This record gives sequence, structure tokens and C-alpha cells, in this order.
Amino acid sequence: MQSEENILREIRINPIVPNESVLVATARSMRPQKDEQAAPRDTRTHVAKCPFCTGNESMTPPEIASYPDSGDWKIRIVENLYPVLGDDKNTPMPTFGLQQAIEGYGRHEVIVDHTQHGIAVHEMTIEHLSLLFLAYKDRMLQIYEMDERLKYVLVFKNFGPAAGASMSHTHSQIIALPVVPQNVHDELFHSKQYFDKHHKCIFCCLIDEALTFETTIYERDTGKVLRQIHVGQYVIERTEYFIAIKPFASRYEWEVQILPLSHSSDYLNLTQEQSDDLAKIMKNTMSRLDAVIGGAQYNFFLHSQPRGEENTSYTQSYHWHFEICPRTCIPSGFELGSGLFVNTISPEDAAEQLREVKI
Ligand code: AMP
Ligand code: ZN
Ligand code: ZN
Repeated sequence: MQSEENILREIRINPIVPNESVLVATARSMRPQKDEQAAPRDTRTHVAKCPFCTGNESMTPPEIASYPDSGDWKIRIVENLYPVLGDDKNTPMPTFGLQQAIEGYGRHEVIVDHTQHGIAVHEMTIEHLSLLFLAYKDRMLQIYEMDERLKYVLVFKNFGPAAGASMSHTHSQIIALPVVPQNVHDELFHSKQYFDKHHKCIFCCLIDEALTFETTIYERDTGKVLRQIHVGQYVIERTEYFIAIKPFASRYEWEVQILPLSHSSDYLNLTQEQSDDLAKIMKNTMSRLDAVIGGAQYNFFLHSQPRGEENTSYTQSYHWHFEICPRTCIPSGFELGSGLFVNTISPEDAAEQLREVKI
């Protein structure tokens, strides 16, 4: 039970994108709730009717790539059978008055992450995860080179029904868009503004703060401690090349972001050695999330520098990263109506639990 003393009720501003804020309201976690049942996970290794299981390759559209490229596949990339965007039609877009639209031009592909139907990321080997991260990179590069109208290749993963996954076989997806999505644009724009003012990458500064910053804030009249920030308080994992951080303004209770420790704007710079290390930090972070939440259902996605002449100026100011968003609550009318995310667990407590759980 939380004491009144420790209750947080504050609107935290995202340091990178200031127009995105989060209401951290920890008293809300004490309200009566239905007993949470850990969602049963589909842990089967092979499912006879699953189009992503081995032996059922003919149930998907043609294969785009497989890893390794000969013999039995470990990872398979296919066209999406029900694409949200396509490059097949080339019809002029009728627009009228306030009904303006851009053609839904693009690509939508599925990456079958593993041959084992219900395997979770934290159960995959480092070697396999590294191969998966290099497959993301290969495919991003191929798509950018194939069609210069495509400005942004979004790689993401839905895991579990609470995260919107309709297929229980472990998979990632690629959606290539003719525009830079608004939230990537906002990060690019604001981090560039910070760079122009301070000549530093804001993501690098954030990492520095997480690793080197310590402070105590007191109440002026009473001398009471209002907030203490300890070195490493937001750090969940650190490896040779990467850091996993709990954002100060976490939108989701168990949100974690993974960033390269050294400045890099573009995921396409990832080397084999870094990919092995990324696999390590992702596996450990996912193990922590799974241990604390008890069967994490989540979305993760990659934010990296977009393509095109108009985006080359972001190399020094942008910093690629993965955002991992475990889904433990359904957004309510307040979130939808206000645009404010509501987080009922203090990010500092969540970070401590994630750091301390035995994996
Ligand atoms: P999601 O449910 O969004 O996590 O991802 C599953 C994706 O797989 C959806 O985008 C579906 O359109 C796609 N899909 C479903 N069945 C097939 C299939 N047989 N071959 C290729 N893609 C499929
Ligand atoms: Zn399957
Ligand atoms: Zn940076």
C-alpha cells in the first residue's frame, strides 16, 4: 500500500517532444480493480494450421527473403496477405474541399521472427536475435534503395492480443510509408531545435544525465526533501554499446527505451558486433519485463533517421532507438479525450522493480 506521502500526481513533459505529456497518478493504482489474470500465452512450438509455421510456407504470399538464404529458414520475410498499404495501384487521388487525402502508397511485409510458433523474445538465443536485428536492417536498406518515394520504413512488433496481435505466431512487421510519421517528425523536429541551441544531441544528453546526474530538491521553507534523483535511477540495463532506460515521462507503466550509447542517427549503421550486443540487451530487458509483469504483451518499434535529401540534416541531432511499450491498460475516455497518457506507476518505482528482479 502506498502512503499519502509517496503519492505522485504530476504532469510530466516529455523532454524530447514537449507537446507530449503524461499524467503520473500513482493513487489511481489503488482503485478497486478486477483481479488481473495473467493472460495465457500460446506456447505451442508448432500449429498445424498456422501460415507462419514450418511446412505451411505455401499459405503466405511469396517469400521476399529468408535467413539463412539457403537450407532451412530461421527467419522469413513475406508480403502481408492483407496489406494496409500497397504499391500495386496507381490511381489518381480525387480530393475535394476539406476531403483531402494522400494515396495509401507503400509496402507492408511480415517478418516471421522464428520457426517456433509461441516463442517469446526473451526465450530466443542471442545469436537468433542478432540475426533478426540484421534482417530488419537489410530489409530497411533494400526498401529505401528500391523506391525513393518511400521516406520511412517502420519496423515494429506486436506481441499478444493486448498489443493488437491477430496472429499468435511470433512475428514483426515492416510498413514503408511515403511520408514521415508525425511522431517521428516531432522527435526529429524538437531534437534538431535542441541541437541548434545547445550543439548537442538531446538523446546523448539524456543518456549522460541517466549515468552521471544526481540531485536532491528540497522544499524552500521546511527543508523537506521533495525529490531525489540518483545516478542510474532510470537505467534498466547497460551493455558495451547500448543502454535500456525507463523514460522520466513514461507513457506506459512498463515502457522502456533502448538506445545506442554512442551517437548514431541511423539504424542502418548497425554492425554485426553491435547487433550481437543489441540482442543481449533486448533479451535481458524482455526477461525483466516478463518477470515483473508476468507474461508481457507489448509493442516495440524502431525510430531511426528517415530517408531523402530533406532528412539528411538530422544526422547530428537525431539518435535511433527502440521503444518498448508493454500493454497493461486499455486507454479510457480521459486519455482519448485529453491526449494525455495516464501512468499509474511511478517511473522511478517501475525502474527499480525492473532492475532488481532476478532473471
Ligand atoms: P498483427 O496481427 O498486426 O500483429 O500481424 C499479423 C499480420 O499478418 C497482419 O498484418 C495480417 O495481415 C498478416 N497475415 C495474416 N495471415 C497472413 C498470411 N497467411 N500470410 C501473410 N500475412 C498474413
Ligand atoms: Zn505458427
Ligand atoms: Zn545522440
